[in-house]
Amino acid sequence: MEKDKSTYVTGLECLNCGSTFKDKPYFKGCPKCRTEDFVSNVVPKYDFDAISEIINPKILSKRKGGVWKFQELLPVDSKYSVSIGEGNTPLISCDKLSKRWDLESLYLKDESQNPTWSFKDRLISVAVSKARELGARVVTTASTGNHGASTAAYAANAGLNSVIFTLPEVPKTMKTLMQIYGASVVAIPNFKDRWNLMEECINEFDWYPTSNYILPPVGSNHYGIEGYKTIAYEIIEFLNWRSPDWIVQPTALADGLSGIWRGFKDFKRLGIIDKLPKMVSVEPFGPLKNAFDKGLDHLEQIETDDTIAFSINENISTYQGLHTLNESEGVAVLCEDSELIEIQKTLGKTTGMYSEAASLASIAGVRSLREEDVIKSDETVVAINTSSGLKDPEMTSKHQPDVPTIKPSLKEFKKILEMNYGVSI
Ligand SMILES: *Cc1c(COP(=O)(O)O)cnc(C)c1O
Ligand SMILES: [Zn+2]
Repeated sequence: MEKDKSTYVTGLECLNCGSTFKDKPYFKGCPKCRTEDFVSNVVPKYDFDAISEIINPKILSKRKGGVWKFQELLPVDSKYSVSIGEGNTPLISCDKLSKRWDLESLYLKDESQNPTWSFKDRLISVAVSKARELGARVVTTASTGNHGASTAAYAANAGLNSVIFTLPEVPKTMKTLMQIYGASVVAIPNFKDRWNLMEECINEFDWYPTSNYILPPVGSNHYGIEGYKTIAYEIIEFLNWRSPDWIVQPTALADGLSGIWRGFKDFKRLGIIDKLPKMVSVEPFGPLKNAFDKGLDHLEQIETDDTIAFSINENISTYQGLHTLNESEGVAVLCEDSELIEIQKTLGKTTGMYSEAASLASIAGVRSLREEDVIKSDETVVAINTSSGLKDPEMTSKHQPDVPTIKPSLKEFKKILEMNYGVSI
């Protein structure tokens, strides 16, 4: 056992051309196969022989839960880890929805129970830890909210400054969240302008990025994405060291989709599971679906519109997403605002959970694929619940009736209950 190693990373590898590199930041993707309209991701490679001597189900079940429980499979020396309680989220069984959709089991991996109430905390915990390891002083990101809130929180905890480029139209709650953790937050309307200015700051001031900032996009910080692998590890452990049949993930630049997929591949490689799930991306407009269904090897920009699923509203996706759908023999699905509004209410009433609209895309995807019988009734499905409904309560409240103010009389109370809620006592 080589216990003195700081990490088990042996280098980086391009998902597309297979070129290998020394472990250092390649936040603009693989320099070897990059063209005007194509960029591929580089991902850390690990010494699996050494890791398999340490990691097995028995050892893992004894460790304290959380992202850093899996430190051997993360690309950062754990002495730099920045943690505020990320990971170890519950897998919640949605029995009523399973029954309704004639499905063996549907689970929600409830990532809204992370420190800043979204799954981004796994990515950012690892990305900001790496920032500390590399001696960065300022951390920066371009974000519609969750990425920014998380970056600000972890930077604060690590004692680093953070600067966030957001959009003017993101909900107030999101802006407040980013600000409360001490970030300097500015809004820029156009996503291309945001990325350009962010890149200038990175080049000029040596700031450390946690998100994408180039076009065509490559995705987030390649260290951070490794944090998403822990979602897969936790699901496998919860299911008694087995893998589900399907993972359904709300998708923008596909950091989540590809990180979770590589988590499953890690545990297969370590001999902990023998079967891999199929990966499903769900998007409001579908740049990833467009490329995948057409069988393209690069992403195209597509038309988009406004959506309540603003956290996943992208007009172009990434190679890592395409690679994941192809490798896992997955499926790409679309969702609509009307479905998300309905599912938000249904989930509240049947399961006691309140999720952000973007987050509900995964459940909408499960329903569509079940209706088309792509997902079979005897299969096990895990939908990732990426974030909390409290990020945008204004949208939700638009679809709820006003709360009636009543006189304290039993007669009137009964009448109102019947009239407003259809409840008779
Ligand atoms: C960031 C985000 C996603 C997915 O983003 P990817 O870029 O595909 O990883 C999904 N849901 C919510 C709520 C998000 O904030
Ligand atoms: Zn390459």
